[in-house]
Amino acid sequence: MTRIAVTKKPVDPGPAAWNDLLPARDPVRVVDEDTTADWVVIGAGFAGLAAARRLSQQCGSDKIVVLDACRVAEGPAGRNSGFMIDLPHDLSSSDYGGALDKDVTLTADNRHAIDFAATMAQDFGMGPDVFARTGKINAAATARGDAHNREYAAHLMAMGEPFEVLDSAQMKERTGISYYRSGLFTAGTAIIQPAAFVRGAAAGLSSNRVQIFENSPVTGLTHDGDWVVHTAGGNVRAPKVILAVNGHLNSFGFLKNRLMHVFTYASMTQPLTPQQSARLGGAATWGVTPADPMGTTVRRITSPQGDRILIRNRFTFDPSMEVSDQRIRSVAQDHDRAFKARFPMLGGVGMQYRWGGRLCLSRNNVSVVTELEDGLYAACCQNGLGTTRGTLSGILAAELATGTGSDRLDRALAAPAPVLLPPRFIAKPAANAVLKWQERKAGADL
Ligand SMILES: Cc1cc2nc3c(=O)[nH]c(=O)nc-3n(C[C@H](O)[C@H](O)[C@H](O)COP(=O)(O)OP(=O)(O)OC[C@H]3O[C@@H](n4cnc5c(N)ncnc54)[C@H](O)[C@@H]3O)c2cc1C
Repeated sequence: MTRIAVTKKPVDPGPAAWNDLLPARDPVRVVDEDTTADWVVIGAGFAGLAAARRLSQQCGSDKIVVLDACRVAEGPAGRNSGFMIDLPHDLSSSDYGGALDKDVTLTADNRHAIDFAATMAQDFGMGPDVFARTGKINAAATARGDAHNREYAAHLMAMGEPFEVLDSAQMKERTGISYYRSGLFTAGTAIIQPAAFVRGAAAGLSSNRVQIFENSPVTGLTHDGDWVVHTAGGNVRAPKVILAVNGHLNSFGFLKNRLMHVFTYASMTQPLTPQQSARLGGAATWGVTPADPMGTTVRRITSPQGDRILIRNRFTFDPSMEVSDQRIRSVAQDHDRAFKARFPMLGGVGMQYRWGGRLCLSRNNVSVVTELEDGLYAACCQNGLGTTRGTLSGILAAELATGTGSDRLDRALAAPAPVLLPPRFIAKPAANAVLKWQERKAGADL
């Protein structure tokens, strides 16, 4: 008999701002008795919800139970900047690109995941305020950022991908911001309200056959022929389980010392007054990722209370998978500096929300889609692009578990495992020193 004790529960620092903007929802459904199912999916982020959706498509009448430690949209899936990117987005590369042939198949796979999400959005009645394929701009504030954009543009050209180069005046016209010297627009990115998307997906999936339990952290697993999934309120027994917990795969005892736990951070302003929105100018909504991967992401969004600006920057390597409130406060200074530099016309606008969230990366930029043990599957390690890669891993893990073959699945199964990291006492200071150095090099793009 296999027994797995879960060593750590997820801890999400700061408020889940996107979720806070949405109306209150139904009372939480927690596991409060023993039950059985055909499938258990652990984790209700992009990977878990995509896995549940794909299972429900493949296995008509099967009962699927999805469990999460927190409420849907309170974890990383509801805390991100909402860029569902189709093109290569390797955070460890200087310009996001990698090897040409790999990037072409990666882009095709990413688009498959975005199409899958688009169908969910359509089937579950999500509007363009939740999911819209509006594209994104890689914005450059420095000569170095501009050079990154040119390298990336050359890479896109070699891939046969269209793009549009924007000068400083065009950047101002679109965003209202004079700070940027150039931009590179690509059309294939979907921009989402992440909390609304995962809440919409969970609500749309929920039925007699698909049951979603929140605030139900899994404390352990036992294999006695079936898998028994333990929570404080009861056990769920099923022959097959998909782990869609991203970096918490380590907490279930798998891939020790092969997953890098990184946090990134965001702040969101209070609502702008109509006068402030007018002073800003530009389009009503837009999304800008930094030309330098270590730079600052910015979005202008609409919310029921008024327009808002989201700022995201900084990465820290935290193998403990937890960060302190003090960290959130110290990163807040980087957000305020980035906001002030880009939005001098919005003096006096304060931040209403500040938060952080987990990413999981591997040194060789691979995800983990595999059968870990008999009937136990993984859809984890999304390398910082979890909206897209998480969706893809969830689809592929469900296909692996149901014996549904495809070239995409073959590619995922042929990928190497995440490579070993140096011991933690070396990896933590070394990785944080490299991140700091890269962030310093990003200069005004940060
Ligand atoms: C500020 C910020 C900005 C970001 N911006 C972007 C972006 O623009 N685009 C992008 O693609 N990505 C972005 N990301 C990353 C993205 O949010 C993650 O990669 C993505 O959420 C990973 O999806 P997932 O489903 O694999 O994992 P998660 O979203 O982490 O979901 C895993 C779930 O498993 C649950 N879980 C863990 N352990 C247990 C347990 N023991 N029992 C039950 N449940 C458990 C967790 O509560 C969690 O809800 C950003 C992240 C942050 C923090």
